[in-house]
Amino acid sequence: MKPSKIKGIFEKNNKIFTENLRNCKGIRVYNEKLFSYKGNEYRSWNPYRSKFAAAILKGLENINIKPDSQVLYLGAATGTTVSHFSDIVKEGMVYAVENSPISVKKLLESTSKRHNLIPILSDANHPDRYCSIVPFVDILYQDISQRNQADIFINNISKYLKKNSQGLIMVKARSIDVSLQPKKVYEIVTDKLEEHNLKIVDIFDLSPYEKDHAAILISN
Ligand code: SAM
Repeated sequence: MKPSKIKGIFEKNNKIFTENLRNCKGIRVYNEKLFSYKGNEYRSWNPYRSKFAAAILKGLENINIKPDSQVLYLGAATGTTVSHFSDIVKEGMVYAVENSPISVKKLLESTSKRHNLIPILSDANHPDRYCSIVPFVDILYQDISQRNQADIFINNISKYLKKNSQGLIMVKARSIDVSLQPKKVYEIVTDKLEEHNLKIVDIFDLSPYEKDHAAILISN
């Protein structure tokens, strides 16, 4: 087990891991494997279940996430990827927005002991609705498979992302336009992001872990 290029993420035999929070030892969020090494507990991170893990295995390393980062996460679902963010930003905070009440209920149950994770039942189309809870953040992560996913990302960036910070969007091409080749959809999204003065840092196709998806890292 050795640290990867991204602080807080570890690697062994082409697999990646995060270190479980100390008060969550023995607790699984999505039936992931746990194992102990030199007194710490690590959680295996499955790239077929988490697009962030897939992006890392496809080469993402320029993301400036730190142990004290503030993260806004849009499309938190039941906590699979969010829980790994919570492991990475041990001294920071993850604000996890999700609009499905059923998912938020499960998210609350599976992450109740995580002191640095705040589930928020809200619609990411309306960033004003969570401004009393969410501060300016260092990282904005989005995984929402809606047709207007790029607009949601841009609107939340302009409201919440600190200057000279980064956003990472997981683009699902088929949610935007099933009639186009995924590469064409990624081009449309990157053009739109650039029109809003966002710089494209990196882009990764997530196959074979996720079909017709790309991860786009931007800075503002
Ligand atoms: N990111 C999750 C993970 O890796 O564990 C999976 C996210 S899933 C692909 C997309 C999620 O976005 C769903 O849970 C869905 O309910 C949520 N969602 C869709 N539209 C949304 C919106 N407008 N605001 C907030 N969440 C939304």
